[in-house]
Amino acid sequence: MTPRVLLASGNAKKLAELRRVVDGAEIGGLDVIGLGDVEAYPEPVEDGATFEDNALIKAREAVARTGLPSLADDSGLAVDALNGMPGILSARWSGGQGDAANNELLLAQLADVPAERRGAGFVSVCALVLPDGSETVVRGEWRGRIVAAPTGAGGFGYDPLFVPDDEAAAGRTSAELSPGEKDALSHRGKALAQLVPALAGLAGS
Ligand code: IMP
Repeated sequence: MTPRVLLASGNAKKLAELRRVVDGAEIGGLDVIGLGDVEAYPEPVEDGATFEDNALIKAREAVARTGLPSLADDSGLAVDALNGMPGILSARWSGGQGDAANNELLLAQLADVPAERRGAGFVSVCALVLPDGSETVVRGEWRGRIVAAPTGAGGFGYDPLFVPDDEAAAGRTSAELSPGEKDALSHRGKALAQLVPALAGLAGS
């Protein structure tokens, strides 16, 4: 039977990005599946103090529930003027009211912060946990700045507010990049690139 890896994310848009990047690495002989392909289980409480803790909570729970090698991402936006917040609380910054409310709240908090102090970075920590208990944890970061109003309809989360520093983005928000452009620059793309050897090892085992 072809070896499988479970992408343990309940966020459909994040799952699509994880799948795109892992599929794009063209690791032959590895079936990439999502939570929709296994028996449903309750999402674990993400009560860790760091991205690393929370990624491991999600990946370990997936292995315990399914017995499959499992990969989970914990990610967020760290805003310089907010001392690194919302950070691990990014998904729930407005009290669980969703992306649009999160964006509105962040913009209100930064209303008086001038352009030169609107730096921020997306962070993605990905954990790959195997049924034998071995764990690989990697981190990717993506620097940019927070604009004054949402722009663009692609991506998810805080993408309409984030203009990457990369020249290739040419002043567009990450919600205005094509999926391929985002993957090539993003925190998640950078984290997952570091997992390719471990995933290839899984395919060869
Ligand atoms: P998690 O599912 O607990 O890891 O929460 C991740 C949250 O961080 C998302 O709900 C978004 O608010 C934010 N986030 C992470 N990655 C991205 C991204 O690539 N674009 C925009 N927002 C992101």
